[in-house]
Order: sequence, then C-alpha cells, then structure tokens
Amino acid sequence: MIERLAIIGVGLIGGSLARALRGAGMVEEVIGCGRSAENLELAFDLGVIDGCTRDPGVAVKDADMVLLAVPLGAMRPIFERIKGALRTDAVVTDAGSVKGSVVADAAAVFGTVPPWFVPGHPIAGTERSGVAASFPELYHNRRVILTPLPQTDPEATARVRSMWQAVGAEVSEMDVAHHDEVLAATSHLPHMLAFGLVDALARMQGTAENFRYAAGGFRDFTRIASSSPIMWRDICIANREALSAMLGRFGDEMADLAATIRRGDGDHLLEIFTRAKAARDRYVDGVEGGLAHKADE
Ligand code: NAD
Repeated sequence: MIERLAIIGVGLIGGSLARALRGAGMVEEVIGCGRSAENLELAFDLGVIDGCTRDPGVAVKDADMVLLAVPLGAMRPIFERIKGALRTDAVVTDAGSVKGSVVADAAAVFGTVPPWFVPGHPIAGTERSGVAASFPELYHNRRVILTPLPQTDPEATARVRSMWQAVGAEVSEMDVAHHDEVLAATSHLPHMLAFGLVDALARMQGTAENFRYAAGGFRDFTRIASSSPIMWRDICIANREALSAMLGRFGDEMADLAATIRRGDGDHLLEIFTRAKAARDRYVDGVEGGLAHKADE
C-alpha cells in the first residue's frame, strides 16, 4: 500500500497510473504536480489526484512513492527541484522512454545514481497526451521494464515492481544500455517512420488529395504520428546514438528495397515479404508477441 504518491507530470502515463492504483485500492493519497494549473485542476476534477502543487519540492514532501512522468528533457530540472525535499524512506521511479539519459541526469544532480531511484519504463501508451487521455486500464497486460543499477536498493526495486504489478502489468528487468537499444529498434524507429512518412506526404504537391485517398493501411501505419511532438523530440535527443544507428541501418534496407524494385526482381521481393510476414505473424501477432503486442512503446 502506498501512503502518499507524488506524480510529477499528470498526463497520459502519470494520470493512468494514479487512476489504476486508486481503482486497485493501492494508494491512500495522490499529489499531482505539473506546470499548468489548468491541467492540474482538470486532474483534480476528474478525481485523478487529491491535491496539487506546481512545485516538485512541495509535491514530494511526505510522499513514500514518487513517479516522474514528464518529458525526458524535464527530468534533470525535476531532480534538482526534489533534491533535499524527499522523505528519507521515499522511493523514486520514472516512466521515461529512454533510460540512459534519465540515469545520467540523476547522476549529474545527485553525484551518483541514488539507491532509492529505480529507473522504469511502461511499454504502454497511446498517441494521445494529457490527463484527459488517461485511463485506468492502460497497464493491464502490458510490460513494464525496470533498469535498476548495481547500487539500486533491492527493496526499492521490489516496491516499484509491486506498484506496477498491482495495476496489471508484467514487470521485467533489463540493463540500461540494452533497454535503449531494444526500444530504439522496436518503438523509436517506427515512430520516426510514421512521422517521416506523414511529413513527406504533407510537403508533397497535392497534399489534400494524397491524404483523401489514404487507405486503412496508411491510417494504421501512421496513427502514432499523432503522438506528442515534444515527447518525441526529447526521446530522439535522449537516445540519439542508438536511434541514429537504427535509422542508418533501416536506410540501407530501404535503399536495397528500392534497388530490388527498380530492377524488377520479383523473387527477391517475395523473399523479403515472406520473411517479414513470417516474423510478424510469429513475434507480433502470435504467442511469442506476448503482452506487448498492442502497446505503442
Ligand atoms: P503527457 O504529455 O501526456 O504528460 C506529461 C505531463 O508532464 C504533462 O501534464 C505536462 O504538462 C507535464 N510537464 C511537462 N514538463 C513539465 C515540467 N517541467 N514540470 C512538471 N510537469 C511537466 O506525456 P506522457 O505520454 O504521459 O509521457 C510522460 C513520460 O512517459 C515521458 O517521459 C514519455 O517518454 C514516457 N512514456 C510515454 C509513453 C506514451 O506512449 N505516451 C509510453 C511510455 C513512456
């Protein structure tokens, strides 16, 4: 049971966790913190939080669990604001989509990554943002990855694990760098493809007509291009090495595909498409896709 949960950034991710923990009867009090009074008032009116402040230092006071659910670029200033304000037995976790940058931010502010900080990432989301988009079932049957460090207190990791399990998530652990490489391939690259494709079409002549004839496949493929630009700018910058390497590799694949099409090599096309279909059927739609198959991240 969490006595007082402080959510810094009451948007889709933070708001959904608050709603879910309340629904599970796992939290006594939720304090929300954000920059906009309007969003916090909405969170209060929706019953997501019990109280609010715009000062992270005030929000974490007396909290036994703290979740940072702000865009990655805001993590470091938040660490600075909560430094020295935490309860001695408080556990702090985050939901950032890249782990290396958050760990580096914590180390920069605290001198070393504190034992009570458990880096985390729920592999769940939608293309919508803000507390109005939050819903309590977001984490049901979704994965959450924790990336504790050697110095992380196992008791702190256990408390964060229990919190996510209480809202229906399956929790696993991963090394920080490995997390960032895996997510660059499975989440960050697809978002770049969606943003890049829609932007390319939007800048072509006859834009309205192009989009008018966009079929279901285009809609499915590009839904994630409606995601928050600020959040994705921060993810790209935070994971720039792994993501630019993936984009380079994917660019080579596209160049190879273009050359295959240009020379009319049907056998090679059939080989690529058959291999891709088999992999998707097996790993994404099939049993080996497991829990993550509907998650955005
Ligand atoms: P969101 O835009 O819905 O919510 C973020 C909230 O943080 C907003 O209420 C915003 O006002 C607030 N905020 C922004 N800067 C702030 C600051 N400096 N101080 C205090 N509050 C601030 O975004 P989200 O989708 O909930 O994402 C939050 C975090 O979770 C991000 O780090 C993101 O990378 C990660 N994440 C998102 C998804 C997803 O699919 N949306 C999935 C997994 C992880």
